[in-house]
Amino acid sequence: MRAAIFIEPAGLLADIDPTRGGFGRLFELRPEASAPLAALKRAGFLLIADANEHGLLHAGVGRGELDQMHEALRCAFSLDDILVCRHDDGDACPCRKPRPGLVTEAAFKWHLDLERSFVVGNRWQDAEMARMAGCVSLLVKSPWIGRGHHDFVLPDLASVAWKILDLKDGAHAVPRGTTLSHDPAGADQNLTPIEDLT
Ligand SMILES: [Zn+2]
Repeated sequence: MRAAIFIEPAGLLADIDPTRGGFGRLFELRPEASAPLAALKRAGFLLIADANEHGLLHAGVGRGELDQMHEALRCAFSLDDILVCRHDDGDACPCRKPRPGLVTEAAFKWHLDLERSFVVGNRWQDAEMARMAGCVSLLVKSPWIGRGHHDFVLPDLASVAWKILDLKDGAHAVPRGTTLSHDPAGADQNLTPIEDLT
């Protein structure tokens, strides 16, 4: 069975702003996420984005724009899968975070070992989803962490990747000094420029 990294895209892989409107201007990829995710992929993890998208639909973002954003995320960060909930709270669905439906759906689809999988997010809902699914949670510091259970809070995605690699092997899986942070000369070359996607 494989292990996965579940990651919230908003604020971690892309800045998403439904008020900006206009085709191709909904989101801006975060190139600094490229190296940490590549390191996790090299370590053998599946990379799966998970998102609640009702808020974006409610704000008037079209499904075509969401599909375009998913494709850009998939290409830029070599994601293996993107799972979304488009329900509202009133729908009482099993997949709206903090409920763990997206993780359990992925576990079934990809034959995952959730005890060796990690949830990376920036809100309390991500940590609560991880707790219910039996994954370790790592939150990037933000105003939305809340006071519920979480396993780790770290300053940025590069620190999260280091921590996961440490936890995975009980030791440093890659030599310290390997750059996981933003590297304009290298890491960005795999990113697809936004303007090419329109
Ligand atoms: Zn749902």
